Amino acid sequence: MHWTRRTFNRNTLTALAGAAMNLVPQSIGAQSAGERPTARTDDIKILNPRNRIPISLIIDDSTCLVNMAHYAIPQFAVVFPDHYKQPWRTLPREIPDSFVRKFGEWCHEHGLKGKYSMVPYPACVGWLDRELPGWSLAELHESLDLVRTLMTPDWDIHPEMVSHTRVIDTRTGRPYGEYSDLYMENWRWTDNKSVDELADYLSYALRILQNIGLPCEGITTPGGFGNNVLPELAQATLESCRDVFRAEIPHYFRHLYTDDTSVAPRVEYATGLESDDPRCVVSIIGCTGDWFGNWDGLATGSADLFISEDLREGRLPEVIARGEPAILVCHWPGIYCNGDESGFKILQTVVHRLQARYEDLVWMKLSEIARYWAARELTSAAIKDNHIQLRAPFAAPDFTLRCAGTSARPQIVHRGEALPLREIRHPRELQSGCWLRHEDEIILCFDLQKGESEILFGV
Ligand SMILES: [Zn+2]
Repeated sequence: MHWTRRTFNRNTLTALAGAAMNLVPQSIGAQSAGERPTARTDDIKILNPRNRIPISLIIDDSTCLVNMAHYAIPQFAVVFPDHYKQPWRTLPREIPDSFVRKFGEWCHEHGLKGKYSMVPYPACVGWLDRELPGWSLAELHESLDLVRTLMTPDWDIHPEMVSHTRVIDTRTGRPYGEYSDLYMENWRWTDNKSVDELADYLSYALRILQNIGLPCEGITTPGGFGNNVLPELAQATLESCRDVFRAEIPHYFRHLYTDDTSVAPRVEYATGLESDDPRCVVSIIGCTGDWFGNWDGLATGSADLFISEDLREGRLPEVIARGEPAILVCHWPGIYCNGDESGFKILQTVVHRLQARYEDLVWMKLSEIARYWAARELTSAAIKDNHIQLRAPFAAPDFTLRCAGTSARPQIVHRGEALPLREIRHPRELQSGCWLRHEDEIILCFDLQKGESEILFGV
């Protein structure tokens, strides 16, 4: 079903007329938030997972072997000759798998999680589900295996559309013949496109990754893709990820802010919260610029912009102090930096500084953040006779809430099964299945199940 003004009104009226829980449509900028439960009380506050600050790393412009900067710059220069004068011939054509392995293993050892793009037809060099001219078939297959085994456990995989350069005619698989910004993914092709047209394009990209066994629950927009059709982009993401991958909670990365704008994820186009087919899409928002080595791997980055050496200044302490997810943004060529790996070294410095200052961060994949925020925003919570009734359209691990003025010894009851929670003393020990006294309130952490649950006290 496509989102239209008519379905909007119909759902709203149905909800207001008969449902036990009113569903109130709201909007977030150009995109619509969709439904929200009103059965929420100030006596219950849903906190971050395990009452920690989520942190994540977004890696754009990665794929197998192909250095996107080397191949994309001359294609960008055809359209904007004055803006793309980088010496692309001097950049290596490959970012080798030995670097993927080194990076992936270091990140795994240090607990990092996030998103790793896999551009399916990188700069029109070749198709990841067919062959990559310039490399042997065996090299492509080994490269894909490395991503499947090393990266997918800790990183969401996104297509960054089809080529990240030229727009492909999805009927023929060929790039359009017009050389202008109207036929580049990064610029104006998406202008005035409908939800259906965008969903067709997104699905085309997703299917290539599906062909090679890479799971996707979200998409990353290349350059300015979708900028002038934000409502359509959100809905097309929802439809294409559900259609191709049966993703329960699709998400996308389009926005980043480095000012005072909130960088909390936005749960959009929520519908059917009380049905057995709840839907929403989550916009994941970056909080930094690429201060590693930029998209072309030619910039000199700075760890201090993320967090200063004395651990006090920088963008990350600012966002972490707000309690919002700190989602860093980088580009793969700017991590490799044409072999000197200076972007990677900056990342290592940032991670060491964060570890030195904070004990309450939790690295999460974007899909995990999306799921948590969908549950956080869309679960109804009401107090009734000394117990809490929850109705969750989506399950979420490590669901954490704080409630006021309630006696202790909580247990969660779901479908007749009771799960007593264990009392802990120190906030750092908080994990699923535990509770904690905190001033005159208590904090509970448990795996929220889809559907109805109750929290009983003192039984
Ligand atoms: Zn990109």
